[in-house]
Amino acid sequence: MKNQSPYYKAIGKEVEVFEQTYASKIPFLLKGPTGTGKSRFIEFIAHKLNKKLITISCHEETSSTDLIGRYIIKGAETVWLDGPLTTAVKEGAIIYLDEIAEARPDVIVAIHSLTDHRRELFIDKLGETIKAHEDFMLVASFNPGYQKGFKELKPSTRQRFIAVSFAYPKATLEAEILVNETGIDANTAKKLVNIATKIRNLTELGLTETVSTRLLVDAAKLIHNGLPKRLSVEVAIVEPLTDDLEVIEALKDLCNLMI
Ligand code: ADP
Repeated sequence: MKNQSPYYKAIGKEVEVFEQTYASKIPFLLKGPTGTGKSRFIEFIAHKLNKKLITISCHEETSSTDLIGRYIIKGAETVWLDGPLTTAVKEGAIIYLDEIAEARPDVIVAIHSLTDHRRELFIDKLGETIKAHEDFMLVASFNPGYQKGFKELKPSTRQRFIAVSFAYPKATLEAEILVNETGIDANTAKKLVNIATKIRNLTELGLTETVSTRLLVDAAKLIHNGLPKRLSVEVAIVEPLTDDLEVIEALKDLCNLMI
């Protein structure tokens, strides 16, 4: 029996687009800044399609071996252990490579033959090639980060995916998400969204990433749990954004007026 669906509020046509893409099993790329609901979306859609989801949070040490598998020593023997990608390919799961651009370049090489008509995975340590299960699908996320310091994804890789952009939802939707996620009252939710909108428009602050829906959800949770509103906003929204003391003070003043 299916368990309860993760809560996800559609922002655009992403649900329909994904369902049609899944029908053809074309790889799917979720683009957008952190905290815009990419992970939640994929959890929701995997549940809706009744497919197993395997999530890998990629970081700079993530290698193809981590994904494909390795030999391990067990007692006196060496045994082969499938990695999560191999498991997904065999079982027909949806694999979600979160922040794929962060991973080592050999990861991109490893998924190559899975992202075209071949739909196969080459396991070099075993000298084996396996055909993907018909339900297998590859999904990745990528933060385009228009500032310095973010890793890029090569056009030759990007063009193997259907891509959908995730951005901050419009104010009424975002407030609805806060109410649903945390149980906070609609009025406070609206105020939190107004704060976010204001800070998102302050491009002169030069923040690397601005207020995400995730930060708003965190602030709303603290408020709902009984922490004073101003303190909640300070620790959940302002402090995570920057370490610049002047900017912190300015943002605190702004938020205090708005909450
Ligand atoms: P990302 O993967 O883009 O970094 P997440 O999916 O982890 O972001 O989203 C962060 C949080 O924001 C979620 O845990 C959820 O509470 C909330 N959220 C963001 N967008 C939505 C949405 N459209 N529907 C429901 N919750 C959302």
